[in-house]
Amino acid sequence: MKKIAIIGAGPGGLAAGLLLSKKYDVTIYEKDSVVGGRSKRIKLGDYKFDLGPTFLMYVEILAEVFSKSGYDLYQEIDLIKLDPLYKLIFNDVTFTISADPKKNIEMYENYEKGMGLSYQKWLIDQEKKLNVIKPILEKPFSSPFHFFRRDVIKAVPVIHPFQSVYQLLNTYSKNPNFIHSLSFQAKYLGMASYQAPSIFTILPYLEHQKGLYHVEGGLNRIHAKMGELFKKNGGKLILNAPVEKILVKNKRIEGIKIKGEIVYYDQVILNADFSYAMEKLIDPIHLKKYHPSKLEKKKYSVSTYMLYLGLDKIFDLPHHQIIFSKDYEKYLKELMTGQLSKDISFYMHNPSILDHTLAPRGHSSLYILVPVPNLRSSVDWDQFKIELRNQVISMINHQYQVEIEKHIVVEKVYTPIDWKDNENVYLGAVFNLSHGLDQMLHKRPHNQFEEIKNLYLVGGGTHPGSGLPTIYQSALILNDIM
Ligand SMILES: Cc1cc2nc3c(=O)[nH]c(=O)nc-3n(C[C@H](O)[C@H](O)[C@H](O)COP(=O)(O)OP(=O)(O)OC[C@H]3O[C@@H](n4cnc5c(N)ncnc54)[C@H](O)[C@@H]3O)c2cc1C
Repeated sequence: MKKIAIIGAGPGGLAAGLLLSKKYDVTIYEKDSVVGGRSKRIKLGDYKFDLGPTFLMYVEILAEVFSKSGYDLYQEIDLIKLDPLYKLIFNDVTFTISADPKKNIEMYENYEKGMGLSYQKWLIDQEKKLNVIKPILEKPFSSPFHFFRRDVIKAVPVIHPFQSVYQLLNTYSKNPNFIHSLSFQAKYLGMASYQAPSIFTILPYLEHQKGLYHVEGGLNRIHAKMGELFKKNGGKLILNAPVEKILVKNKRIEGIKIKGEIVYYDQVILNADFSYAMEKLIDPIHLKKYHPSKLEKKKYSVSTYMLYLGLDKIFDLPHHQIIFSKDYEKYLKELMTGQLSKDISFYMHNPSILDHTLAPRGHSSLYILVPVPNLRSSVDWDQFKIELRNQVISMINHQYQVEIEKHIVVEKVYTPIDWKDNENVYLGAVFNLSHGLDQMLHKRPHNQFEEIKNLYLVGGGTHPGSGLPTIYQSALILNDIM
């Protein structure tokens, strides 16, 4: 039987392991003591948090991973459908986005005459777009000749490939709040709406039309479950096992080096952060296109500053909410040019409002994410670590008329430096190589890695891209091609 090693038990590595353990001898090596990677659980005393992802959308793809591995997602995981989806707090208005698009039409129309109709037209157009994009994302895209594939040619008139998310939304309504409410999702890719290609308006569409889910215990439970089922399928999961080198001979995989020993494999799947692995795990003589000197010239996503607070109270705040900057466009420009804006925008997650497993009775676990520049910028995190914490807390106090600091029992901060040092993320760019057209499709590192035979990629650094549904999709692609 074919022997496969997977480096990393992040969502990508676990999904690939779960699928492939049905047919091959698969071992996952994870450097950490728990599974999940950027999507793992962290504990601060009695308080539990998702380290990273909290938005779960388009669960059909996850369901396909489970069913092709011999399991039923809906039997294995308790999914809680959210309604409302989230609150968006602008300077002059708050939008509560419902799981029912009809209510959203009404909400937009009440805010500005004609906006409801614009939203309705946008929904119809996005459905057409999703239908043509889906087949493209489900297959590898490894050559420019794939632009001549029938599914791609069919998609071109619908997807407006050279328009940005911002430009496209501007054709439906000029109102900035309308545009921001349907474009902030570009940040899921670590990009600004004026940079992200307009195909990514399928993200808000997927949220509005197919819903958002919470999992009891946090999204990290999906990945803990995947680890269990992988072992049940016969896979070997080795924790506390940092891979030191990927061994290559005559441009083919030979095996891996771990704890000073060589272990031979027929094939290796790389789930650890792509650029980190190119720089640290492969001898540069085997690399050309992704040689460390070339990686420096690539474009990377932004990073995030995280604040995890264990509180002695459950605040009556929405499950998901985003507080927008006063001048959001200026803030985006500052963020994308490596500046730490004074007028920040941030996301707050208050899952304890519906999930009582995350904190002691009557207490809560509050998660705050501030998009910040990656480590290419010269922000001094020793200085800003505390300043930013205090700024966020005072903004929450002001917004909700609370004194949150009086209720903090435990807290933890994560800066771009922590993403780099603890999670092996190149430049702390947590959403990977950015998703401009110059780094997507055949221009993104291929699922079957183009520089080394028998090396495969899974996760946010390869096709189709960063974000849980696309990461799970990259595992489905490997299941088809391996
Ligand atoms: C703060 C934050 C919020 C996010 N929010 C969302 C969201 O709401 N929705 C969404 O869809 N996506 C979100 N994402 C994006 C994405 O879904 C996650 O980052 C996801 O965890 C990436 O999965 P991955 O499999 O590509 O990589 P990772 O999760 O990074 O997994 C890689 C694994 O490799 C391991 N590893 C690294 N080096 C080695 C080595 N040398 N040897 C062995 N193992 C190694 C790591 O420990 C890790 O377990 C978010 C990301 C972040 C950081």
